[in-house]
Amino acid sequence: MRRISILGATGSIGQNTIDLIARAPGDYEVVALTGAGNISQLAADARRLNAQIAVTAHEHLLDDLRAALTGSETEAAAGTAAITEAAARPADWVMSAIVGAAGLEPGLAALQQGSTLALANKESLVCAGQLMLATARAHNARILPVDSEHSAVFQALVGEDISAVERVIITASGGAFRDWPVEKLATATLAQASSHPNWDMGQRITIDSASMFNKAMELIETKEFFGVRPDQIEAVVHPESMIHALVGFRDGALMAHVGPPDMRHAIGYALHWPERRSLPVERLDLAAIGQLSFRAPCETRWPALRLAREVMEAGGLSGAVFNAAKETALDGFIAGDIGFTQMSDVVEEVLSRVPAAAGQNDAAFTLDNVAETDHLARQEARSVINRKAG
Ligand code: NAD
Ligand code: MG
Repeated sequence: MRRISILGATGSIGQNTIDLIARAPGDYEVVALTGAGNISQLAADARRLNAQIAVTAHEHLLDDLRAALTGSETEAAAGTAAITEAAARPADWVMSAIVGAAGLEPGLAALQQGSTLALANKESLVCAGQLMLATARAHNARILPVDSEHSAVFQALVGEDISAVERVIITASGGAFRDWPVEKLATATLAQASSHPNWDMGQRITIDSASMFNKAMELIETKEFFGVRPDQIEAVVHPESMIHALVGFRDGALMAHVGPPDMRHAIGYALHWPERRSLPVERLDLAAIGQLSFRAPCETRWPALRLAREVMEAGGLSGAVFNAAKETALDGFIAGDIGFTQMSDVVEEVLSRVPAAAGQNDAAFTLDNVAETDHLARQEARSVINRKAG
């Protein structure tokens, strides 16, 4: 029996993970499930999977969670610290699928007890990549990528020598607005930005796909996780979302990973790694698909990609500034305080101010420094948003 925890169990990735686990209940012992506001889902899954503990991020919902778990053997807990404590319970495999920088500390806690961490939470690599990798090394733990592009790169690298890699190409669907005239982007509404042409995901990553902040984060994630140089990493727009990434080797060969846009592939690969087991995903009929297409990403349409290059070049804690500014700008767009195209304006302005003001690029890579940088960048982003909104 493998001991499994799922952080962010009620979200899109969490539910896809539970879908796979629930198909073979005898193989897994569920340790912890965590969520936030969706108590009924959290409690229902905790009962169904007989979890040891269920934790909500919201302390005021503890009584509701307790009530929903009455008669079960599952313990209830609440609050941010309780999530990190649950992540630190001994487990063999932990899914990190909380959205945002809130996933960093629980992910580190799981690594500290030596778990294999299946990492969907790209924010933790963007804001603290070096810290994540160093923690994994120090505790003999392993990080397996779950973001579809990074799982694809990871799979294309099996049996290869990383020094033979010339370039890594990650694909982007182009999101909701890939065919809109650039001038119209400023008028994009929340509802329009919240629908994705190919993938069914949480709202925040869906909007980040429309703005390409998701791809920008993934470029940085590629650099941090695989240790390749920024000039070796490319993004290409591929509207069909069938090829998730390609790895180019020094002999000119490109190894592509092709599959349907279903996150259960990447989750299942990380769950069963290093084995490949049968997964309930669609088998592609290439003749029926007929054609796959590619275009260069336009940095006028998607300034987030240019900002990601600047962050990769700057290194240090600039990823923490970028992630925090992006999360705050996204909050501002969701709240209706700023328009769609103003999100990248906010991030650009914060990037230009925060590192210079506090010297974070040179600061040591500790959790405290990441948290302090995150805090400063959010503060700065809110002041930029207030100025734009006012
Ligand atoms: P989601 O919004 O559907 O779910 C987020 C989960 O995090 C929920 O369980 C929620 O309760 C929990 N959560 C939210 N705020 C929290 C907080 N402050 N503290 C603790 N828990 C909190 O998001 P998602 O689409 O499943 O994405 C999860 C992560 O996986 C993100 O980092 C995202 O970028 C990444 N990812 C998602 C997909 C996808 O297909 N959905 C693909 C690749 C990567
Ligand atoms: Mg992805």
